Amino acid sequence: MADAKTPLRRVILGTGGTIAGRAARAGDNVGYVAGQVSAQDLIAAVPPLAGLPLEVEQVAQIDSKDMGLAVWQRLAERVAHHLAREDVAGVVITHGTDTLEETAFFLRAVLSPTKPVVLTCAMRPSTALVPDGPQNLLDAVTVAGDPQAHGVLAVCAGSVHAAEHVTKVHTYRVDAFDSGDAGPLGLVEEGRVRWLHLPDRPGTETPFDAQRLQRLQQATALPRVHWLTSHADADGVQVLALLAYGDAHPEAMPQGLVVAGTGNGTLHQALEAALQEAVSRGVVVRRSSRCARGRVIPGVAGALADTQGLSPAKARIALALELMGM
Ligand code: ASP
Repeated sequence: MADAKTPLRRVILGTGGTIAGRAARAGDNVGYVAGQVSAQDLIAAVPPLAGLPLEVEQVAQIDSKDMGLAVWQRLAERVAHHLAREDVAGVVITHGTDTLEETAFFLRAVLSPTKPVVLTCAMRPSTALVPDGPQNLLDAVTVAGDPQAHGVLAVCAGSVHAAEHVTKVHTYRVDAFDSGDAGPLGLVEEGRVRWLHLPDRPGTETPFDAQRLQRLQQATALPRVHWLTSHADADGVQVLALLAYGDAHPEAMPQGLVVAGTGNGTLHQALEAALQEAVSRGVVVRRSSRCARGRVIPGVAGALADTQGLSPAKARIALALELMGM
């Protein structure tokens, strides 16, 4: 619980997603349109939030499958703006589930915030018979006001996850997120957080990394980093096609490739040969795994560099930022 000196104001930034989705029929949990209901209306649908010191801003109104640099830039700027305010305890972001882990990782990588930035979502639209969004939103506001909460977190179905570990693991169930081997950081129970592990506190007391934010705001595009997968009967055609396309359209030449290998990051020999060709042409290649659990354990002689435990989705962002010198 917050002590008397803890600022309690929380800012809710809406970006769309299923939590703000609407279906024509109440029982329809798949045939809806995401990003229809304003963040203000989402809050109004949660009676326990009434009377709390909250502010709301609509940053975007999209299906998060369409997330990209422009929204990330706007979101990072608004998050940073509010984190710098002394009267703000933390920020909540309502977001689609599909790319929530990517936005969480991106914000963490760019801002390294000290105060909590809590992403939340829903698997069912706001019009569902039993929507999950209202409870998730309430839980996220609770976490954003908890004095032990730091950095970028995700809250869904009563669990608190760290940005670096959270992954969407289910296509339909409301408990759709998991933190793999790391496990969740905590649980939200009746308006209180029960921490299982305390979130890492950044070494600095600055609210966010202003220099990195400035670099991000100057970007007009992220370096092109593609994500490929190895599998039985794979070949190198996708890699060679990307290189050939880049030869014809130099602005589209991939700068990086992340490959989700089989098992411990192993690659079909035909795919690996094409990836080595890409490396010889200056493309940075990183090797992750398509396994849902575990990480690529280094130690195989001659293997392409691994992603140091990052999933392919997060490794793609990390490599793009690295290629920007961030
Ligand atoms: N496609 C939706 C989105 O990511 C899915 C969701 O929010 O659950 O915005």
